[in-house]
Amino acid sequence: MVQLGTKSTPAYIVALLPHLRAGTSLVESELKEVQELLDVDPPLTAEVLEITRWVADYYAAPWGEVMRAALPAGLNASVEQTIAITEKGGQSIEDSDPDASVRSRVLTLLATEGEMELNALILRMGATRTPKWLREMEAEGLVDRGYRTLSSATRAKRRRAVRLEQNRLTDATDEAAQRNQRTTPAQQRALEVLGQAGGELSVGELVERAWISESVIKTLLKNRLVTEFEEDVRRDPLANANLPQTDSFVLTGAQTTALSSIEDALKADAFAPILLHGVTGSGKTEIYIRAMHRALELNRGAMMLVPEIALTPILSRRLRAHFGDGIAIFHSSLSKGERFDEWSRLRAGEARIVLGTRSAVFAPVKNLGLIIIDEEQDSSYRQEESPFYNARDTAIVRAQKDSAVVVLGSATPSLESFHNAQTGKYKYVQLPDRIANRPLARAETVDMREVFARLKKPPVFSDLLLEAIDTTHSRKEQTIILLNRRGYSSFILCRSCGNSIECPNCDVTLTYHRGDQTLVCHYCNYHQRAPTVCPACGSKYIYYVGEGTEQIEELLRKRFPRLRIGRIDRDTKARRREFERTLLDFGKGEIDLLVGTQMLAKGHDFHNVTLVGVISVDAGLAMPDFRAAERTFQLITQVAGRAGRGDLPGRVLVQTYHPNHYALRHAIAQDYRGFYDEEIRHRRNHGYPPFVALALLLVRQKDEAKAKLIAQQLRNALTEANRDHSCRILGPAPAPFARLRGEYRIQLLVKSPGRKQMRAVIDQALKSFEEKGGDARTVTLEVDPVNMM
Ligand code: ADP
Ligand code: ZN
Ligand code: ZN
Repeated sequence: MVQLGTKSTPAYIVALLPHLRAGTSLVESELKEVQELLDVDPPLTAEVLEITRWVADYYAAPWGEVMRAALPAGLNASVEQTIAITEKGGQSIEDSDPDASVRSRVLTLLATEGEMELNALILRMGATRTPKWLREMEAEGLVDRGYRTLSSATRAKRRRAVRLEQNRLTDATDEAAQRNQRTTPAQQRALEVLGQAGGELSVGELVERAWISESVIKTLLKNRLVTEFEEDVRRDPLANANLPQTDSFVLTGAQTTALSSIEDALKADAFAPILLHGVTGSGKTEIYIRAMHRALELNRGAMMLVPEIALTPILSRRLRAHFGDGIAIFHSSLSKGERFDEWSRLRAGEARIVLGTRSAVFAPVKNLGLIIIDEEQDSSYRQEESPFYNARDTAIVRAQKDSAVVVLGSATPSLESFHNAQTGKYKYVQLPDRIANRPLARAETVDMREVFARLKKPPVFSDLLLEAIDTTHSRKEQTIILLNRRGYSSFILCRSCGNSIECPNCDVTLTYHRGDQTLVCHYCNYHQRAPTVCPACGSKYIYYVGEGTEQIEELLRKRFPRLRIGRIDRDTKARRREFERTLLDFGKGEIDLLVGTQMLAKGHDFHNVTLVGVISVDAGLAMPDFRAAERTFQLITQVAGRAGRGDLPGRVLVQTYHPNHYALRHAIAQDYRGFYDEEIRHRRNHGYPPFVALALLLVRQKDEAKAKLIAQQLRNALTEANRDHSCRILGPAPAPFARLRGEYRIQLLVKSPGRKQMRAVIDQALKSFEEKGGDARTVTLEVDPVNMM
């Protein structure tokens, strides 16, 4: 705890220097006294400290913020100051007049209330900030200041327990009987029960099991037959969960090959990145589980990262069934207390494996030997707020530092990872077939241009999809309806030909600005007037993409009153428990049809789902992001993996105005390689990752003119720092969300074939921007941005 300004703030000790290094100059006034040490054991292990340091450097984030992200939420985060009366203070009450001065009123108050929160006391006394008299009282030793953490959730939960005296462990009752004839039958019972329980029980359990009152225990304590202690109570997130059977399959040939290459790498005890490319349902999870068992056998710990939403309750149960208490789970719907306890079990080495989302990359796993990143292409590995870091890339670096094996698993690897496998940076392992040769779902596009031409009004559902929902239900099978959008509708799409309008320079969709009726590229700031007819086919049916999940649910309820319909989207995601319940209910077959956004496409394994309908896939294709095609390809491929997981064949219907788009064509054909070859060409031609490093600078300002000015200053600074032209600088241009929460947002994009040069230019530019009076707080820097939205 360190005093910064008027506030006490938790701080981190990152190193101890017994001597100052020669030549270090210190400004006395900049030194801070440590007020109090909050932890006895350092919460961050050396390995974790090192990786937080790397993240801070690489992503240009404040180190303290990264360390905070690495610790369980709430740990030391909210500390309040307390004030209590001292012995000296207590004595001085007696000889003072009870209602004379503020000072004696304070002392009387503290004497009756005990320790109080400092702010509460100040308020009670009618002051607004720490008054002078209080500081004087402190100086005189009448009162004492302290600190306490606000949320007890981030402390171990404890309970009272008793233990048989050491020398009585063997034959407690006999000995008690011999040595102490005065034990009552109730005391006898208590000692007996304790003996049977191995000598230790919590007070509560002992009372219950031995049918005694607490006073009996008090007597035993007094007679020194038992001793009292406090024990930690574990808050177990899966305490009452039903665990599934752990099947022991015979691995398929492909699985065996894949597993043995992971094993070989584990035995080699060196850094090894492996890309495990397996279609959905090819048995990747089974390999993860066995690989983690191997790591444990080699006395090494393991980490499994899953995307935000794929961390289903189902997967945690499957892993708990395998690893019991050996696995700690950082589940997104854990309470703070549960999260803290799971983290503590890792820190203490009681659990050797962690399963979790993004921030679990910082988990204190002992002797880490294996990291698994499932669905490595998933954008939720990227934290979209400061510190902006990518857990996948951080995990790879952590594996490198810890000489661990890292397995990147996916049915649709990111372009970057597949490229790394192509160039030999990653070892490539493939699972080409589904288990038991279950066929992949049959995917087909439904051409909405035809439907539109027939109906003459914009349809939400095609007849084909409606009929399919009906037949699926009549066979007692389940349906998923997927809406591919993120509440983003500011672009133009033609209903007659399916075209959206792209920037001639940047290969991304232009964004529609309603105010001045223009189309703008938010990478390079290219402008043009919004057309009234489609520039490609002349049709006047151009439109802005529409419906949300709620409306879709409404429409479906009207159309199919007998279906039990559930919905999952961003809103319900905020209510975690409800979200989890809906998924479990769907898994149990208590919901017939589930409507949701792309998060439904990931990771779940529902055996009775035989139909997936994707509506408004075009919204995803036209997203003003250079990864729009890749995302759409991944989505459709994954969705095809959702249907027909069990023995039933699956069907996927993709409604689109753009059935010839290459991302859709390859996705329908389940042709990853074909898509990769086409997409990588675009990336090379237009200069996008993996061929260049990318950084995004975002200016946020309440005042529009100021925002523009700052962005221009930043641009000038960048141009100046880029004298050797090692970077390409794009913008300033309005961000895709040009106004958000009352702030104007303008962005600049920096591209460079060399990551080092790029950082050098940006660092130099930011420095000179600040030196010229620019306010660095209005600028956020994102290195390797994932979502260009
Ligand atoms: P993925 O993670 O690639 O989607 P899973 O590991 O979940 O695939 O496997 C898909 C299904 O096949 C699961 O129900 C799993 O229990 C089962 N499975 C996995 N491996 C085998 C095997 N060797 N033999 C039989 N069934 C298997
Ligand atoms: Zn058109
Ligand atoms: Zn452009």
